[in-house]
Amino acid sequence: MIFRPAPELREIAEELKSVTALMWRFHHIDPARIGFFYETTCEKTDKVAELTPVDPLWWSVLDEFGVYWDYLIAVYGYHAEGKSRNWLKILVYHELRHIGIDGKLVKHQVEDFKDILREFGIDWLDNDPDLPDIAKLPANAGWEACSPLN
Ligand SMILES: [Zn+2]
Repeated sequence: MIFRPAPELREIAEELKSVTALMWRFHHIDPARIGFFYETTCEKTDKVAELTPVDPLWWSVLDEFGVYWDYLIAVYGYHAEGKSRNWLKILVYHELRHIGIDGKLVKHQVEDFKDILREFGIDWLDNDPDLPDIAKLPANAGWEACSPLN
């Protein structure tokens, strides 16, 4: 597998963080502190994407490269190649949702987070290109701040 840096995924994270309906979930997340990568060989993988905390042992090594990452997000080309930007946005949203307020990893129910299943259906991964733009959901779309955290 070969990973390339994926600044377009960080842009998506920044956009999601700026959306009124979603930002309350991401106050504790700084996309600059996440390394985003895309797997380019499209070798078959079970996972569509994954979020990995950076072991603090690596921080001094990363310092040498001028990056300060608490997490890495990898998106696998086998699943993501050719998908729409709306699909990628939901995927990035999903991965960011794994970062808890306390910095620990949050697990989701069943195979996905309830809010994603509710809004986009249980088979959203297979429904590209018919997905709506998660960043354009109205603020009252059920994503407001009083929803349960998971
Ligand atoms: Zn997940």
